Amino acid sequence: MAVTLGAPASTALLGVYKPAAPVFVAGEGCRLIDEDGRAYIDFVAGIAVNALGYSDAGVNAAIAAALESGLVHTSNLFRTRPAEELATELVARSFADRVFFCNSGAEANEAAIKFARKWARTRGGPEKHDLVAFRGSFHGRLMGSLALTDRPSYQTPFTPLMPGAHIVAMDDDAAVRAAVSRARTAAIFVEPIQGEGGVRVVPAQRLAWLRALADEADALLIFDEVQCGLGRTGQLFAHEATGVVPDVMTLAKPLAGGLPMGATLLTERVAQVMQPGDHATTFGGGPLLATVALEVLRRVAAPEFLAHVIAMGAHLHATVNGWTDVPGITQVRGRGLMWGIELDRPAAPIVAAALEKGLLLVPAGERVLRIVPPLVIAEEELDAGLAILKDVLS
Ligand code: PLP
Repeated sequence: MAVTLGAPASTALLGVYKPAAPVFVAGEGCRLIDEDGRAYIDFVAGIAVNALGYSDAGVNAAIAAALESGLVHTSNLFRTRPAEELATELVARSFADRVFFCNSGAEANEAAIKFARKWARTRGGPEKHDLVAFRGSFHGRLMGSLALTDRPSYQTPFTPLMPGAHIVAMDDDAAVRAAVSRARTAAIFVEPIQGEGGVRVVPAQRLAWLRALADEADALLIFDEVQCGLGRTGQLFAHEATGVVPDVMTLAKPLAGGLPMGATLLTERVAQVMQPGDHATTFGGGPLLATVALEVLRRVAAPEFLAHVIAMGAHLHATVNGWTDVPGITQVRGRGLMWGIELDRPAAPIVAAALEKGLLLVPAGERVLRIVPPLVIAEEELDAGLAILKDVLS
C-alpha cells in the first residue's frame, strides 16, 4: 500500500504540521492501527511520550479511577490529593524539594526561566537575568523557550525574541566562559541528552564543568529532561548516570501517559523566592492527569522496568552496530531507548520508506533517524522494527 508523508490533512486544521497519510484509529502495545486495519510498529511513541505504549491496562485503570471520582479539574484554587501525592513522589525520587505542574515541555521551561530570573534578581538585581543555552538545543516554541532553542528558522519569523538569551557551542570553553558571568547570568539551560538536535549525549565531564561554572557565577544549572527524563535512558532521570545534580529540572512528554502534563522541579533555595501569585496555570496538576502520572511514575521508576530499558537499549545498539553491510550510517549514539542513527544523507526519505513498510520513525535534525519506542517494547518487536529499518537503509 502506498503511503506518503505530507498528505493533506483536514483543511480545518491549521497547517503547521505535515502529518503522514495514515489515519490512526487504534493502538495496542507498541503498534498503531490505521483506518484500513494495517498495523505499524511504533519507534516514535508520540515523540518519546508513550512510555507504556498503547492500551496499557494500568494507564487505562488510572484514567477510569480518576473519572470514577468525577474530578477531572478543580483549578489550583483548591487542594486535590493526586497532585500532592505526585509532587511528593517526584520529590522523593529526585534531587528536588518542590514541584510546579503545568501542561507541556515548553511551559515547564517557561516556568524554569521565570523561577531562575526571580531567584537571580534576589542575588544580583535585575541585571542578573541572562540565560545561556547551547548549539543544537531544543527547549520549546513559546517565546521564552524559543529564545533558548537553537533553530533560527523557528525563531526568525517571530522576532523580537526574549532578551537575555545566549546560545553558544558547548565544546567551546572560551565561548561558554564568555557567555556566563556572575553579574548577568541567571541560569544555564541544558538537555543532558539533546533530542531534537540529533540525539547527542552530553559527556558527564561537560555537565560537571557546567555545574562548576554555574556555581562560580552564582547561577542556576537547569536540566531539560522533557525528552530524556522519566526512564527513557534506563535511569529515572538521565542526569543520574552522570552524578551531576541540577538546581531545576523540567519534565513533560511521558509524565501523564500521553495526557498533556509538564513539571518543573526545583530545590528549596530556588523555591523560596516564589510567592503566591508569582506564577500560575489554570490546568496544572489536575486530578485526572496527576492520577495517571502517579501510575506512570511508579511503573517507570521500578528497578525491573529500568533494567528492561537498559537491556533493550543494549540489544538495539548491538544490532545496529552489527549492520556493517548497511551503507551510509556515519554514527550511532544514544542511551537506554533513545537512539540516533546519523546518516550520510537526509533522513526524511528513509522515514517515508519505513512508513510504507509499516515502521514509524521520526528524524532528529536533517540526517538523524531517531528511535524512541515505547519503553515497554519487547525484544521481538524491536527486532521486527529493526529488520524493516535495515531493509529500508539497504
Ligand atoms: N524540551 C525538550 C528537550 C523537548 O524535546 C521538547 C519537545 O520536543 C520540549 C522541550 C518542548 O515540549 P512541548 O512540545 O511539550 O512543548
